[in-house]
Amino acid sequence: MIKNDPFANATKQLDDACKILKIDKGTQDYLAMPNKIIRVKIPVKMDNGKIRVFTGFRSQHNNDRGPYKGGIRYFNPEGGVEYMEREVMALSAWMTWKCAVVDIPMGGGKGGIYLNPKTEKISAGELERITRRFAFMISEIIGPQKDIPAPDVYTTGKEMTQIMDTFGKLHGVTYQPGVITGKPIPMGGSLARNVATGLGTAYCVREAAKIIKLKLKGAKVVLQGFGNASTFAGEYLEKMGAKVIAASDSKGSIINPNGFKISKLIEFKQKKGSLVGFPGSKKISTEQLLTTKCEILVPAALENQINAKIARNLKCKIIAEAANGPTLPEADPIIFKKKIIVIPDILANSGGVCISYLEWVQNNMGYYWTFNEVAKKMEDHITRSFRDIYALSKKHKVDMRRAAMVLAVSRVLEAFNLKGLWP
Ligand code: NAD
Repeated sequence: MIKNDPFANATKQLDDACKILKIDKGTQDYLAMPNKIIRVKIPVKMDNGKIRVFTGFRSQHNNDRGPYKGGIRYFNPEGGVEYMEREVMALSAWMTWKCAVVDIPMGGGKGGIYLNPKTEKISAGELERITRRFAFMISEIIGPQKDIPAPDVYTTGKEMTQIMDTFGKLHGVTYQPGVITGKPIPMGGSLARNVATGLGTAYCVREAAKIIKLKLKGAKVVLQGFGNASTFAGEYLEKMGAKVIAASDSKGSIINPNGFKISKLIEFKQKKGSLVGFPGSKKISTEQLLTTKCEILVPAALENQINAKIARNLKCKIIAEAANGPTLPEADPIIFKKKIIVIPDILANSGGVCISYLEWVQNNMGYYWTFNEVAKKMEDHITRSFRDIYALSKKHKVDMRRAAMVLAVSRVLEAFNLKGLWP
């Protein structure tokens, strides 16, 4: 029995959407379970000459709309190897819904190795041998038309390049950049990947602002977290005329009602390692940060940040969930009653997977787009999905989180029904 089983949670979310869509039990079971989960042994000769065996996974949830897509993480969750298996199953299901919601012709996958390269002393050579052996073990089930992994927790473009190279050599020394995304630009990576998530969040906010007739010029923004997703969301919202008045990182939260210039905050954090102490700012608590009076709240750090108590005290008009799972289920009905628009994570942070898809398209064509071309294509996917989800939320009288799942599930179901079951 797995404690706080992540796959059970993922299945519960599906349950809600199936109820709204009146889906029968057999079909729901089909949509819930991954098509395939593989668990592999990764024996590696370490630098001291001894063999060490690692465990790796790949869960392929659904490919009714296209090849599986999803990250490979190197991590060691507290619950151990068994927990990790359930986690990748849940995350692969979630990738199916995420790809469907932004209308990417791909399905959901996720995988990884039970290993934390940040806390364990693993040399670069050991990490490469682990990565290449893992790539060898899953090479039969991945491929540009089968399953296309990407970076995730504690993996980078470096590991993606090693997986691409191993796969290409195993398949007769062929150049196969489309087997994986998140590659460095000279290895076939895409422009705009670095800004993708934050830019996508900013596009979502712009659409939400149109609905509630909020002028972005001068609108106040609060950012929780100050990493990749948050800084680019802040930067693009600033370009749209909004003003960041509070922000936070792992060391604390700061506020200045007159507003900050994002580039100055980035500069300060790079020099001092934290935002805390930024000239002219006042330090506040996390709760104060999240409940600051503002127009736009962007949680972009951790999961489970907005609980019922915080929800009751929220003073924003739009919440754009750049982080994964920042809002607890108990908070959703409270926020819905307060008529705050929540742009759910599955949409608000989908810019990353959108550009991963566009990287794969460019790899398959062998022709590469400019930054603006890539950003425009991503914008089209995100704004169209935003409008579809909003329309469904009105139709079913539910929040945008439920509407996003309804949209995703109905798109997968449509593809499944067109193909039918065979054999
Ligand atoms: P990151 O590591 O670049 O940044 C995380 C930031 O959160 C850091 O500034 C860190 O200081 C801050 N932080 C950590 N603990 C905090 C705390 N207790 N209070 C306030 N801030 C805290 O990570 P990221 O890539 O920006 O990812 C952030 C979130 O966005 C995660 O939930 C991630 O899953 C999600 N996300 C990111 C991407 C992406 O492409 N970057 C894509 C999809 C989802």
